[in-house]
Amino acid sequence: PETITVQELANRMAARQGEVIKSLMKMGVMATVTQSIDADTAQLIVEEFGHRVRRVSESDVEIGIQGVEDIEDDMTSRPPVVTIMGHVDHGKTSLLDALRTTDIAAGEAGGITQHIGAYQVKLASGAKITFIDTPGHEAFTAMRARGASVTDVVVLVVAADDGVMPQTAEAIKHAKAANAPIIVAINKIDKPGANADRVRQELLSYELVVESMGGDVQDVEVSALKRTNLDKLEEAILLQAEILDLKANPERAAEGAVIEGRLDRGRGPVSTVLVQKGTLRKGDIVVAGAEWGRVRALVDDRNRQVSDAPPSMPVEILGIAGVPEAGSSFVVVENENRAREISEFRQRKIKEHAAAGKTAARGTLDQMLA
Ligand code: GDP
Ligand code: MG
Repeated sequence: PETITVQELANRMAARQGEVIKSLMKMGVMATVTQSIDADTAQLIVEEFGHRVRRVSESDVEIGIQGVEDIEDDMTSRPPVVTIMGHVDHGKTSLLDALRTTDIAAGEAGGITQHIGAYQVKLASGAKITFIDTPGHEAFTAMRARGASVTDVVVLVVAADDGVMPQTAEAIKHAKAANAPIIVAINKIDKPGANADRVRQELLSYELVVESMGGDVQDVEVSALKRTNLDKLEEAILLQAEILDLKANPERAAEGAVIEGRLDRGRGPVSTVLVQKGTLRKGDIVVAGAEWGRVRALVDDRNRQVSDAPPSMPVEILGIAGVPEAGSSFVVVENENRAREISEFRQRKIKEHAAAGKTAARGTLDQMLA
Protein backbone atom coordinates (compact mmCIF):
# COMPACT_ATOMS: atom_id res chain seq x y z
CA PRO A 1 0.00 0.00 0.00
CA GLU A 2 1.06 3.57 -0.58
CA THR A 3 2.29 5.19 2.60
CA ILE A 4 4.18 8.23 3.77
CA THR A 5 5.48 9.17 7.20
CA VAL A 6 4.00 12.17 8.98
CA GLN A 7 7.47 13.71 9.06
CA GLU A 8 7.97 13.38 5.33
CA LEU A 9 4.49 14.70 4.62
CA ALA A 10 5.08 17.76 6.80
CA ASN A 11 8.45 18.25 5.17
CA ARG A 12 6.97 18.07 1.67
CA MET A 13 4.40 20.71 2.53
CA ALA A 14 6.87 22.85 4.49
CA ALA A 15 4.35 22.59 7.33
CA ARG A 16 4.91 22.07 11.05
CA GLN A 17 4.83 18.44 12.12
CA GLY A 18 2.62 19.38 15.06
CA GLU A 19 0.06 20.92 12.73
CA VAL A 20 -0.05 17.80 10.61
CA ILE A 21 -0.49 15.62 13.70
CA LYS A 22 -3.28 17.92 14.90
CA SER A 23 -5.09 17.65 11.57
CA LEU A 24 -4.74 13.90 11.67
CA MET A 25 -6.22 13.82 15.16
CA LYS A 26 -9.19 15.81 13.91
CA MET A 27 -9.71 13.04 11.38
CA GLY A 28 -9.45 10.49 14.17
CA VAL A 29 -6.01 9.28 13.16
CA MET A 30 -3.46 9.05 15.94
CA ALA A 31 0.07 9.07 14.59
CA THR A 32 3.54 10.11 15.67
CA VAL A 33 5.96 11.87 13.35
CA THR A 34 7.77 8.69 12.41
CA GLN A 35 4.62 6.69 11.74
CA SER A 36 3.32 6.10 8.26
CA ILE A 37 -0.15 6.96 7.06
CA ASP A 38 -1.79 5.70 3.91
CA ALA A 39 -1.92 7.71 0.73
CA ASP A 40 -5.65 8.47 0.92
CA THR A 41 -5.29 9.93 4.41
CA ALA A 42 -2.20 11.83 3.28
CA GLN A 43 -4.16 13.25 0.37
CA LEU A 44 -6.88 14.54 2.70
CA ILE A 45 -4.27 16.20 4.88
CA VAL A 46 -2.49 17.70 1.91
CA GLU A 47 -5.72 19.16 0.62
CA GLU A 48 -6.58 20.43 4.07
CA PHE A 49 -3.32 22.36 4.01
CA GLY A 50 -4.38 23.97 0.75
CA HIS A 51 -2.17 21.98 -1.60
CA ARG A 52 -3.16 20.02 -4.61
CA VAL A 53 -2.09 16.42 -4.88
CA ARG A 54 -0.51 15.04 -7.97
CA ARG A 55 0.00 11.33 -7.61
CA VAL A 56 2.75 10.69 -10.08
CA SER A 57 3.96 7.31 -9.20
CA GLU A 58 2.72 3.89 -10.01
CA SER A 59 4.80 2.71 -7.11
CA ASP A 60 4.23 2.82 -3.38
CA VAL A 61 7.82 3.84 -2.89
CA GLU A 62 7.69 7.18 -4.61
CA ILE A 63 4.41 8.39 -3.22
CA GLY A 64 5.03 11.66 -1.54
CA ILE A 65 8.06 12.27 -3.69
CA GLN A 66 7.29 15.05 -6.14
CA GLY A 67 3.71 14.49 -5.19
CA VAL A 68 2.89 17.70 -3.39
CA GLU A 69 2.39 20.91 -5.28
CA ASP A 70 3.12 24.22 -3.65
CA ILE A 71 0.47 26.75 -2.85
CA GLU A 72 0.76 30.20 -4.34
CA ASP A 73 1.33 31.94 -0.99
CA ASP A 74 4.54 30.03 -0.35
CA MET A 75 6.02 30.89 -3.72
CA THR A 76 8.53 33.60 -4.46
CA SER A 77 10.01 34.51 -7.79
CA ARG A 78 13.04 32.59 -9.00
CA PRO A 79 15.61 33.24 -11.72
CA PRO A 80 14.90 31.96 -15.24
CA VAL A 81 16.73 28.90 -16.55
CA VAL A 82 17.93 29.39 -20.10
CA THR A 83 19.19 26.98 -22.75
CA ILE A 84 20.97 28.29 -25.82
CA MET A 85 20.26 26.43 -29.03
CA GLY A 86 21.02 26.89 -32.69
CA HIS A 87 22.88 25.66 -35.75
CA VAL A 88 26.48 24.52 -35.44
CA ASP A 89 29.01 27.37 -35.64
CA HIS A 90 26.37 30.07 -35.21
CA GLY A 91 28.01 31.02 -31.91
CA LYS A 92 26.33 29.16 -29.03
CA THR A 93 29.54 28.47 -27.15
CA SER A 94 30.87 31.97 -27.82
CA LEU A 95 27.65 33.52 -26.57
CA LEU A 96 27.60 31.37 -23.40
CA ASP A 97 31.21 32.37 -22.71
CA ALA A 98 30.47 36.04 -23.34
CA LEU A 99 27.35 36.05 -21.14
CA ARG A 100 29.26 34.40 -18.36
CA THR A 101 31.61 37.35 -18.09
CA THR A 102 28.66 39.70 -17.50
CA ASP A 103 28.42 38.32 -13.96
CA ILE A 104 29.23 41.11 -11.54
CA ALA A 105 31.61 38.79 -9.70
CA ALA A 106 33.34 37.74 -12.90
CA GLY A 107 36.34 39.95 -12.36
CA GLU A 108 36.74 39.34 -8.67
CA ALA A 109 39.76 37.63 -7.24
CA GLY A 110 38.99 34.05 -6.35
CA GLY A 111 36.06 34.06 -8.71
CA ILE A 112 37.63 31.41 -10.87
CA THR A 113 34.93 29.78 -12.90
CA GLN A 114 34.68 26.09 -13.34
CA HIS A 115 32.68 24.15 -15.82
CA ILE A 116 29.89 22.34 -14.03
CA GLY A 117 27.33 22.11 -16.84
CA ALA A 118 25.35 25.16 -15.80
CA TYR A 119 26.14 28.56 -14.40
CA GLN A 120 24.37 31.54 -12.99
CA VAL A 121 25.11 35.20 -13.64
CA LYS A 122 24.19 37.93 -11.24
CA LEU A 123 23.65 41.22 -13.03
CA ALA A 124 24.38 44.68 -11.68
CA SER A 125 20.65 45.07 -11.02
CA GLY A 126 20.79 42.07 -8.70
CA ALA A 127 18.75 39.94 -11.10
CA LYS A 128 20.03 36.44 -11.78
CA ILE A 129 19.90 34.23 -14.86
CA THR A 130 20.83 30.55 -14.97
CA PHE A 131 22.34 29.16 -18.16
CA ILE A 132 22.55 25.48 -18.97
CA ASP A 133 26.02 24.98 -20.34
CA THR A 134 26.39 21.26 -20.87
CA PRO A 135 28.37 20.18 -23.90
CA GLY A 136 25.98 18.00 -25.80
CA HIS A 137 23.30 19.05 -23.37
CA GLU A 138 22.46 15.50 -22.41
CA ALA A 139 20.26 16.82 -19.70
CA PHE A 140 17.98 18.66 -22.09
CA THR A 141 17.72 15.66 -24.38
CA ALA A 142 17.24 13.17 -21.60
CA MET A 143 14.69 15.31 -19.81
CA ARG A 144 12.75 15.91 -22.97
CA ALA A 145 12.75 12.16 -23.53
CA ARG A 146 11.22 11.84 -20.06
CA GLY A 147 8.70 14.56 -20.74
CA ALA A 148 10.26 16.80 -18.11
CA SER A 149 11.99 20.06 -18.71
CA VAL A 150 14.59 22.20 -17.01
CA THR A 151 14.40 25.08 -19.44
CA ASP A 152 12.17 28.11 -18.99
CA VAL A 153 13.43 30.04 -21.99
CA VAL A 154 15.27 29.02 -25.16
CA VAL A 155 17.67 31.51 -26.71
CA LEU A 156 17.84 30.64 -30.39
CA VAL A 157 21.14 31.72 -31.90
CA VAL A 158 21.06 32.48 -35.61
CA ALA A 159 24.17 33.79 -37.36
CA ALA A 160 23.26 36.92 -39.29
CA ASP A 161 25.63 36.00 -42.14
CA ASP A 162 24.25 32.50 -42.52
CA GLY A 163 20.55 32.65 -41.67
CA VAL A 164 18.17 29.88 -40.71
CA MET A 165 19.78 26.47 -41.20
CA PRO A 166 18.57 22.87 -40.66
CA GLN A 167 19.58 22.73 -36.99
CA THR A 168 17.95 26.12 -36.43
CA ALA A 169 14.70 24.60 -37.61
CA GLU A 170 15.26 21.54 -35.40
CA ALA A 171 15.89 23.77 -32.40
CA ILE A 172 12.64 25.65 -33.03
CA LYS A 173 10.79 22.36 -33.19
CA HIS A 174 12.28 21.19 -29.90
CA ALA A 175 11.66 24.48 -28.13
CA LYS A 176 8.04 24.43 -29.25
CA ALA A 177 7.61 20.81 -28.21
CA ALA A 178 9.00 21.71 -24.79
CA ASN A 179 6.65 24.69 -24.62
CA ALA A 180 9.59 26.99 -23.96
CA PRO A 181 9.30 30.54 -25.27
CA ILE A 182 12.01 31.50 -27.75
CA ILE A 183 14.14 34.62 -27.80
CA VAL A 184 16.07 35.04 -31.03
CA ALA A 185 19.68 36.15 -30.73
CA ILE A 186 20.78 37.30 -34.16
CA ASN A 187 24.51 36.79 -33.76
CA LYS A 188 27.62 37.90 -35.64
CA ILE A 189 26.18 41.29 -36.55
CA ASP A 190 29.77 42.54 -36.63
CA LYS A 191 30.42 40.54 -39.78
CA PRO A 192 30.41 42.28 -43.16
CA GLY A 193 27.84 39.90 -44.67
CA ALA A 194 25.44 40.21 -41.71
CA ASN A 195 21.78 40.64 -42.61
CA ALA A 196 19.50 40.62 -39.57
CA ASP A 197 16.39 41.45 -41.59
CA ARG A 198 16.84 38.39 -43.72
CA VAL A 199 16.98 36.25 -40.55
CA ARG A 200 13.74 37.83 -39.28
CA GLN A 201 12.16 37.18 -42.67
CA GLU A 202 13.27 33.55 -42.77
CA LEU A 203 11.91 32.90 -39.27
CA LEU A 204 8.40 33.71 -40.52
CA SER A 205 8.31 30.33 -42.28
CA TYR A 206 8.66 28.74 -38.86
CA GLU A 207 5.89 30.78 -37.30
CA LEU A 208 8.37 32.81 -35.33
CA VAL A 209 7.22 36.39 -35.80
CA VAL A 210 9.42 38.97 -34.12
CA GLU A 211 7.96 42.05 -32.47
CA SER A 212 9.08 44.46 -35.21
CA MET A 213 7.03 42.38 -37.65
CA GLY A 214 3.95 42.39 -35.47
CA GLY A 215 4.60 39.19 -33.56
CA ASP A 216 5.42 38.52 -29.94
CA VAL A 217 8.87 36.95 -30.26
CA GLN A 218 11.68 39.08 -28.90
CA ASP A 219 14.82 39.36 -30.99
CA VAL A 220 18.14 40.95 -30.16
CA GLU A 221 21.02 41.65 -32.53
CA VAL A 222 24.23 40.59 -30.80
CA SER A 223 27.87 39.93 -31.38
CA ALA A 224 29.33 37.35 -29.04
CA LEU A 225 32.76 38.22 -30.40
CA LYS A 226 32.55 41.99 -29.85
CA ARG A 227 30.28 41.58 -26.82
CA THR A 228 27.64 43.80 -28.39
CA ASN A 229 24.15 43.99 -26.84
CA LEU A 230 24.67 41.26 -24.26
CA ASP A 231 22.84 43.49 -21.81
CA LYS A 232 19.90 43.79 -24.22
CA LEU A 233 19.74 40.02 -24.54
CA GLU A 234 19.74 39.67 -20.76
CA GLU A 235 17.00 42.28 -20.48
CA ALA A 236 14.94 40.33 -23.00
CA ILE A 237 15.42 37.14 -20.96
CA LEU A 238 14.38 38.89 -17.74
CA LEU A 239 11.33 40.38 -19.43
CA GLN A 240 10.33 36.95 -20.67
CA ALA A 241 10.85 35.59 -17.16
CA GLU A 242 8.58 38.26 -15.79
CA ILE A 243 5.88 37.34 -18.29
CA LEU A 244 6.23 33.68 -17.29
CA ASP A 245 5.96 34.69 -13.61
CA LEU A 246 8.47 32.04 -12.56
CA LYS A 247 8.07 31.06 -8.94
CA ALA A 248 9.14 28.44 -6.46
CA ASN A 249 8.79 27.74 -2.76
CA PRO A 250 12.28 28.08 -1.25
CA GLU A 251 11.19 26.75 2.13
CA ARG A 252 10.47 23.16 1.28
CA ALA A 253 12.80 20.18 0.87
CA ALA A 254 14.66 20.46 -2.42
CA GLU A 255 13.82 18.79 -5.70
CA GLY A 256 15.34 19.26 -9.10
CA ALA A 257 17.22 17.81 -12.02
CA VAL A 258 20.59 16.21 -12.53
CA ILE A 259 22.46 18.18 -15.18
CA GLU A 260 25.67 16.18 -15.18
CA GLY A 261 27.27 13.42 -13.20
CA ARG A 262 30.88 12.38 -13.27
CA LEU A 263 33.59 10.60 -11.34
CA ASP A 264 36.18 13.10 -10.23
CA ARG A 265 39.62 11.69 -9.59
CA GLY A 266 40.17 13.56 -6.36
CA ARG A 267 36.64 14.13 -5.11
CA GLY A 268 34.84 10.98 -6.12
CA PRO A 269 31.32 11.05 -7.60
CA VAL A 270 30.22 14.61 -8.35
CA SER A 271 26.72 15.53 -9.50
CA THR A 272 25.73 18.89 -10.89
CA VAL A 273 22.11 19.53 -10.16
CA LEU A 274 19.68 22.32 -10.82
CA VAL A 275 17.47 23.08 -7.84
CA GLN A 276 13.91 23.56 -9.10
CA LYS A 277 11.95 23.57 -5.86
CA GLY A 278 12.96 24.20 -2.29
CA THR A 279 16.42 24.82 -0.96
CA LEU A 280 19.16 22.21 -1.00
CA ARG A 281 21.36 22.23 2.09
CA LYS A 282 24.58 20.71 3.26
CA GLY A 283 23.73 17.65 5.33
CA ASP A 284 20.56 16.84 3.38
CA ILE A 285 19.95 13.25 2.36
CA VAL A 286 19.50 13.15 -1.37
CA VAL A 287 18.35 10.62 -3.90
CA ALA A 288 19.68 11.52 -7.35
CA GLY A 289 18.65 9.24 -10.16
CA ALA A 290 19.20 5.82 -8.68
CA GLU A 291 22.00 6.95 -6.36
CA TRP A 292 21.83 8.44 -2.91
CA GLY A 293 23.94 9.96 -0.18
CA ARG A 294 24.26 12.72 2.38
CA VAL A 295 25.35 16.09 0.98
CA ARG A 296 28.92 16.50 2.23
CA ALA A 297 29.58 19.71 0.34
CA LEU A 298 27.89 22.01 -2.15
CA VAL A 299 30.11 23.79 -4.65
CA ASP A 300 28.97 26.60 -6.93
CA ASP A 301 30.08 27.47 -10.48
CA ARG A 302 32.92 29.62 -9.10
CA ASN A 303 34.33 26.75 -7.11
CA ARG A 304 33.12 28.17 -3.81
CA GLN A 305 31.63 26.01 -1.11
CA VAL A 306 28.12 27.12 -0.25
CA SER A 307 25.85 26.04 2.59
CA ASP A 308 22.67 26.00 0.55
CA ALA A 309 21.27 26.33 -2.95
CA PRO A 310 17.88 28.04 -3.54
CA PRO A 311 15.58 27.53 -6.56
CA SER A 312 17.18 27.88 -10.03
CA MET A 313 20.69 27.60 -8.65
CA PRO A 314 23.03 25.08 -10.26
CA VAL A 315 25.33 23.44 -7.77
CA GLU A 316 27.68 20.49 -7.45
CA ILE A 317 26.87 17.89 -4.84
CA LEU A 318 29.60 15.88 -3.15
CA GLY A 319 28.60 12.96 -1.03
CA ILE A 320 26.38 10.92 -3.34
CA ALA A 321 27.68 7.37 -3.51
CA GLY A 322 27.52 6.98 -7.29
CA VAL A 323 27.14 8.91 -10.52
CA PRO A 324 23.49 9.60 -11.36
CA GLU A 325 22.27 9.74 -14.93
CA ALA A 326 22.04 13.16 -16.55
CA GLY A 327 18.44 14.18 -16.92
CA SER A 328 17.23 12.21 -13.93
CA SER A 329 15.62 13.90 -10.98
CA PHE A 330 16.91 14.43 -7.47
CA VAL A 331 14.95 14.81 -4.28
CA VAL A 332 15.73 15.38 -0.61
CA VAL A 333 14.24 12.78 1.72
CA GLU A 334 13.86 12.48 5.46
CA ASN A 335 16.24 9.66 6.28
CA GLU A 336 18.64 7.08 4.96
CA ASN A 337 16.14 4.23 4.98
CA ARG A 338 13.85 6.18 2.74
CA ALA A 339 16.75 7.10 0.45
CA ARG A 340 17.83 3.48 0.21
CA GLU A 341 14.27 2.39 -0.53
CA ILE A 342 13.81 4.88 -3.37
CA SER A 343 17.25 4.26 -4.77
CA GLU A 344 16.62 0.50 -4.84
CA PHE A 345 13.29 1.07 -6.51
CA ARG A 346 14.88 3.22 -9.17
CA GLN A 347 17.75 0.75 -9.71
CA ARG A 348 15.14 -1.92 -10.29
CA LYS A 349 13.28 0.29 -12.76
CA ILE A 350 16.48 0.94 -14.69
CA LYS A 351 17.18 -2.78 -14.91
CA GLU A 352 13.63 -3.43 -16.12
CA HIS A 353 14.02 -0.75 -18.74
CA ALA A 354 17.34 -2.14 -19.90
CA ALA A 355 15.83 -5.59 -20.08
CA ALA A 356 13.02 -4.20 -22.20
CA GLY A 357 15.65 -2.86 -24.57
CA LYS A 358 14.74 0.75 -24.05
CA THR A 359 17.43 3.38 -24.10
CA ALA A 360 17.20 7.11 -23.66
CA ALA A 361 16.41 8.84 -26.90
CA ARG A 362 19.30 10.75 -28.33
CA GLY A 363 18.75 12.73 -31.47
CA THR A 364 20.37 15.48 -33.38
CA LEU A 365 19.64 17.73 -30.40
CA ASP A 366 23.03 16.75 -28.99
CA GLN A 367 24.83 18.22 -31.98
CA MET A 368 22.68 21.28 -32.05
CA LEU A 369 23.51 22.19 -28.48
CA ALA A 370 27.23 21.38 -28.51
P1 GDP B 1 28.74 26.95 -31.86
O1 GDP B 1 29.10 25.78 -32.73
O2 GDP B 1 27.35 27.39 -32.12
O3 GDP B 1 29.01 26.72 -30.43
O4 GDP B 1 29.63 28.18 -32.34
P2 GDP B 1 30.96 28.77 -31.71
O5 GDP B 1 30.70 29.58 -30.54
O6 GDP B 1 31.96 27.66 -31.59
O7 GDP B 1 31.40 29.78 -32.86
C1 GDP B 1 31.71 29.32 -34.18
C2 GDP B 1 32.65 30.31 -34.81
O8 GDP B 1 32.01 31.57 -34.97
C3 GDP B 1 33.91 30.59 -34.00
O9 GDP B 1 35.00 30.71 -34.87
C4 GDP B 1 33.61 31.91 -33.32
O10 GDP B 1 34.76 32.65 -33.04
C5 GDP B 1 32.75 32.60 -34.35
N1 GDP B 1 31.84 33.57 -33.77
C6 GDP B 1 30.96 33.36 -32.74
N2 GDP B 1 30.29 34.48 -32.47
C7 GDP B 1 30.74 35.44 -33.32
C8 GDP B 1 30.40 36.82 -33.52
O11 GDP B 1 29.56 37.43 -32.85
N3 GDP B 1 31.07 37.46 -34.54
C9 GDP B 1 32.00 36.84 -35.29
N4 GDP B 1 32.58 37.55 -36.24
N5 GDP B 1 32.33 35.55 -35.11
C10 GDP B 1 31.71 34.85 -34.15
MG1 MG C 1 29.72 24.99 -29.40
